[in-house]
Amino acid sequence: MTTASHNVPSLQLNDGRMIPQLGFGVFKVDPDETERIVLDAFEAGYRHIDTAAIYGNEKGVGRAIAASGIAREELYITTKLWNDRRGETEARAALGESLEKLGLDHVDLYLIHWPTPANGSPVETWETLGAMRDEGLTRSIGVSNFDERYLPEILETGFRPAIDQIELHPQFQQRATTALAAEQDIKIEAWGPLGQGKVDYTSGTIGAIAERLGVSWAQVVLAWHLSAGRIVFPKSNRRARMVENLAAASVQLSADDIAAIDALDQGAAGRVSADPAEVA
Ligand code: NAD
Repeated sequence: MTTASHNVPSLQLNDGRMIPQLGFGVFKVDPDETERIVLDAFEAGYRHIDTAAIYGNEKGVGRAIAASGIAREELYITTKLWNDRRGETEARAALGESLEKLGLDHVDLYLIHWPTPANGSPVETWETLGAMRDEGLTRSIGVSNFDERYLPEILETGFRPAIDQIELHPQFQQRATTALAAEQDIKIEAWGPLGQGKVDYTSGTIGAIAERLGVSWAQVVLAWHLSAGRIVFPKSNRRARMVENLAAASVQLSADDIAAIDALDQGAAGRVSADPAEVA
């Protein structure tokens, strides 16, 4: 299924809801510029926005939603519960604050941002997300940065996450977590899908594929994610790159190209951002 005017496929989650596979992330987007940048993203054709309480820009996302005139049901909005809001009372208050800033009565997806093992069990918090989903405050629930070390405790609760959002790009493919997620029909959202600008994917295998296909390296990497059934929301403040990244939905890679990129995995050495075990 694709959205009417854009070539972005939607995936069905294990709770029956649909999610546009390619969206726009706003990590590190300046709160003062967020309204304009998200409006640019809507104009480019994005309908799925990934934010978080900790990004400090939910109000800007909300202003862009209000100014866009786009019908609520055409949009897919994700936000996340920050690490210092654990337990039922805090989690309920935090989602309420996020909804107020976003100007919405529900989000499409609400995630626990990090497992924070130093803060004790996430189970009460997770069960609260389940209750808030049942109350309609969020359509779907999920976790973020819960790798194969942290996902099993969540699965034992009986509230199955629809999504696990984890760092994932060609040199860091998180195979143990993606295998567990596949077994449980949990969709993977790849954050830092382009390596956050910290990895040179412009040359070598990816550069050669890009040159042969006449597309950009970023489009090759995004098309690789999409071919694996992952959800991505690359971030860029620049309109031309927003358009370029969205057009990756139309880039077709061969099985050989996909296998060549799969072979770039460096395991744990490929991580470019924080290890969930160390985030409190
Ligand atoms: P990303 O891999 O999307 O990289 C963003 C950087 O890539 C930008 O700084 C930009 O300069 C560059 N870029 C974007 N498009 C490009 C193009 N076409 N050509 C060349 N360079 C390009 O990294 P990200 O922003 O960290 O991740 C995407 C989203 O994932 C975030 O905005 C956020 O929504 C989410 N995220 C979640 C977590 C989490 O803990 N759950 C952590 C980080 C990011």
